Parts: sequence; C-alpha cells; structure tokens
Amino acid sequence: MAHWRDLGGDTYTLSLEPLRLNVGLVIGAERALVIDTGEGPRQARLILDAVREKTQLPLVVVNTHAHYDHFFGNAVFRAAGVNEFWAHENAAAAIAASGDAARVEVAGREPEMAAAEGEDTEIVVPQAIVREQPVLVDLGGQAVTLFYLGRGHTDGDLLVGTPSSLFSGDLVEEGAYPEFGDSYPEEWADVLRHISALRHRYEHLVPGHGALSTDSTVRTMAETMAMAVRSARQATRESPNDATKAIPILPYGPEQSRLFISRLRAPHSLH
Ligand SMILES: [Zn+2]
Repeated sequence: MAHWRDLGGDTYTLSLEPLRLNVGLVIGAERALVIDTGEGPRQARLILDAVREKTQLPLVVVNTHAHYDHFFGNAVFRAAGVNEFWAHENAAAAIAASGDAARVEVAGREPEMAAAEGEDTEIVVPQAIVREQPVLVDLGGQAVTLFYLGRGHTDGDLLVGTPSSLFSGDLVEEGAYPEFGDSYPEEWADVLRHISALRHRYEHLVPGHGALSTDSTVRTMAETMAMAVRSARQATRESPNDATKAIPILPYGPEQSRLFISRLRAPHSLH
C-alpha cells in the first residue's frame, strides 16, 4: 500500500525517495489530476500504481516545472491513457529543448531512461499550456487552479491550488538549500513573498521536496533570499572583479552560493 497523506479536499500527497519528491493527487467526480510524474519509468510506475490504489478515474497530469524529477515519468502516464499534460509555456519549451540532455542525471536509478531505451522512456512534452492567466482544470465537481507567479526556481514554475492545498513545486523546498541552477534569485524572492501572502487561502503548502511547509518556512526562505540578493549585490559593488568574494557571506552552501551569484549576474536575469 502506498503511503498517501490525506490533505483534505480530495487532495493527497505521496513522498518518494531518494529525493523526497512530493507527488500530488486530486480526485474529482469524473477525472483525477496527478501533480508531477517522477524521474523515470521505474518511479512513474510506482506513482501510477499508488494512484490506482486510490482511483480508477481517467487521469490528467501537471508538471510543475522542467526539471527531470518532475516530468521524466510522463511516458508511463501517456501509456496509461493520459492525453492531457499541463505545464507553463516556458517549462514546456524547456522540456522540448533540453529534456533529452537531462537523461544523464538518472543514469544510476533509471538506466533505461538515461539510455533512452526500453518502454516509456520518451520525453513527453506537455501540450496543455498555462501562460500569464490562471487556468481552472475541471475534474467534475472539483476544480484545480494552475497559475504562474513569475520567474523563480526556473522561468516556468506552475503552482497548483486545490480546495485544501497549494503545491509549489521547487519554488519551496524543505530540508535542503534552494536549487539555483536555472533560477532568477531576485524574482524568486518576490514570488516567495507572493506565496506567503496567499498562504491563508490554503490549509497546506506542499513543497517540491521534503516535509509540508509552514508559514514561517516560506517567509524565512523569502527573507533569506532577499537578503542574499542584497549582500551579493553589495559585495559585487565592492569587489567588481571578484564575485566569489560574496560566497562566504551568503546563507547557502558553497555550491548553491556559486550558482546563486552566477544566476544573479546572468544578463537574462536583469530584465
Ligand atoms: Zn527543480
């Protein structure tokens, strides 16, 4: 039996090792929505089996963003009859452009996915697109809201609002430093403040990875990131030729700090 956690409002979440990935499930009267599909067909089959313990309804999938652990399982769901995959337009574009290049990430745990060999290892690009405006996905007597608050962890992070819960993807992570590799740190801090302001609408906030978030987690994450942006900018002004000077003063690990600074300085994050 899968260990679904019942969040109320026909909403459930399941935590998957080794990344403590939080998958979501919302069950309506006619359809059910699955939030994120795992890092390859092996994990996706576990997710699908767990979903089928809860419901036999036709499924709809949403990918919160274009990182491999959130969409590499899509082909398993397509083989199970899903033909509606939702994502933000930038995430869908990123999956189409660089999904294949990410296969190397799962060489150890999902060898078939890494090698692009075997069943259900195709990259399935979402075709149901969310842009600036929120989208209501009707599940029958139950609707889920997909919305975008701007660039943050990536340039295409979707939030998923259910009657009881807000699924934030990796905009919020619990128990780990934020992952800055494709991020827009300054805008991310603003998005986190926005999420914090929305918190009263939802009983639970489900991060992309780790334990359910509290109000203070999100506020602290927002304040820490805004402070890190200020510190890094100041250090860069003082030592314009050596951005690495800021690394020891940042509230993250050395690797995250290095990525943070490179993303803060990237020209595309200026507009
Ligand atoms: Zn991610």
